[in-house]
Amino acid sequence: MSKTIPYKIYLEESELPKQWYNVKADMKNKPAPLLNPATKKPVTVEELSHVFCTELAKQELDETNAYIDIPQKILDFYKMYRPAPLVRAYCLEKALDTPAKIYYKFEGNNTSGSHKLNSAIAQAYYAKQQGLKGVTTETGAGQWGTALSMACAYLDLDCQVYMVKCSYEQKPFRREVMRTYGANVTPSPSDTTEVGRKILAEFPGTTGSLGCAISEAVEAATKQEGYRYVLGSVLNQVLIHQSIIGLEAMAACDKYDIKPDTIIGCAGGGSNLGGLISPFMGRKLRGEADYEFIAVEPMSCPSLTRGKYAYDFCDTGKVCPLAKMYTLGSGFIPSANHAGGLRYHGMSSTVSQLYDDGLITARSVEQTSVFAAAQQFAKVEGILPAPESSHAIKVAIDEALKCKETGEEKTILFGLTGTGYFDMVAYQRFNDGTMSDYIPTDEEIAKSLAKLPKMD
Ligand SMILES: *Cc1c(COP(=O)(O)O)cnc(C)c1O
Repeated sequence: MSKTIPYKIYLEESELPKQWYNVKADMKNKPAPLLNPATKKPVTVEELSHVFCTELAKQELDETNAYIDIPQKILDFYKMYRPAPLVRAYCLEKALDTPAKIYYKFEGNNTSGSHKLNSAIAQAYYAKQQGLKGVTTETGAGQWGTALSMACAYLDLDCQVYMVKCSYEQKPFRREVMRTYGANVTPSPSDTTEVGRKILAEFPGTTGSLGCAISEAVEAATKQEGYRYVLGSVLNQVLIHQSIIGLEAMAACDKYDIKPDTIIGCAGGGSNLGGLISPFMGRKLRGEADYEFIAVEPMSCPSLTRGKYAYDFCDTGKVCPLAKMYTLGSGFIPSANHAGGLRYHGMSSTVSQLYDDGLITARSVEQTSVFAAAQQFAKVEGILPAPESSHAIKVAIDEALKCKETGEEKTILFGLTGTGYFDMVAYQRFNDGTMSDYIPTDEEIAKSLAKLPKMD
């Protein structure tokens, strides 16, 4: 007899993961190494340590340790808002009239409103551990900057955030949350950095981009004594920290004998998707189980589905190491869609390699269909989802509706990465019927890809 599945599954404190999982250790084909943009040689821990904390530089390049102990102080912080519940979407199943069983892992239960706090606290911890004064970063939609501000406040570290200018102006409340936690927030591009001044001179009146804010934050970190740069997605270290999502989800599934067939996550830089799927992927790579993994991205910024797998710059200013990834080109400026957290031109090198190996599939979805799914979900499950998260909801609903046709009793698990309270302008456009679906042309993408760095 299988156990009755409660609406929400919470792990006991004793069942919480005490180590993160590093999927690279189990991958046969490792992601291609990060390269020094000047020499085109693989970067070393020493080189990375000029930009990142030393311990994080080590995690970034670690391909051998499958498990990494989570320091006690981070475990203590996690206890304030974790475990995140694994929710059985009984109400959504009923509304869809599907034989599929739908579960979601909800990461929105903290003030930053997203999964980003899982890595923010880890990165702030290692900075503090190293005796640094503070950290610099960029934020697009604002979730990462908020999470980092909270983590820095907890550990008494200075926090300097370069916020993409259009977001700074459109989301004043996010900015104030960061400032309340003590962060210093600068709209990017700004005249406080050399690269910012250069970009402003070249593109006067620009409302900024993530790639450009990254360049400014990196410069600010390297020019101030006792500062390092931290990044909220894309990097291997972030995927490692976010594995807490998948480890908890897997423990909760195992506890109730739940066997997901399909696991779905939205993909911006790939951190929540990578974090959710990696422990399951580990089982698949070791031949212990099989799952279908689906990455969902916006049609307006389709790195996996229409990008190229190649070495590219991670930032507009070309100061970061080169990464081999599915990319639209570092000069690609996605249209102003409302899933701000999914607007990065590239993708985690680990997720890229898994996708290239055919271990993950990808789909891109239109903005209006994503908001329709968000509304449908909010009405029956109660949670107002972030636009980013709603990409996963959209595909979970599509899959569940397919099951309705075929009668298949599939088990679907998706990542609900956050809440959408700061995205009311987007919901307003949707409700007013003025939201548009922008899809870049092949020409636009080709033009941007023509500027990939030459590798010979
Ligand atoms: C940042 C963000 C994402 C996308 O980032 P990934 O690194 O791809 O996970 C998704 N959902 C929310 C709520 C976010 O804040």
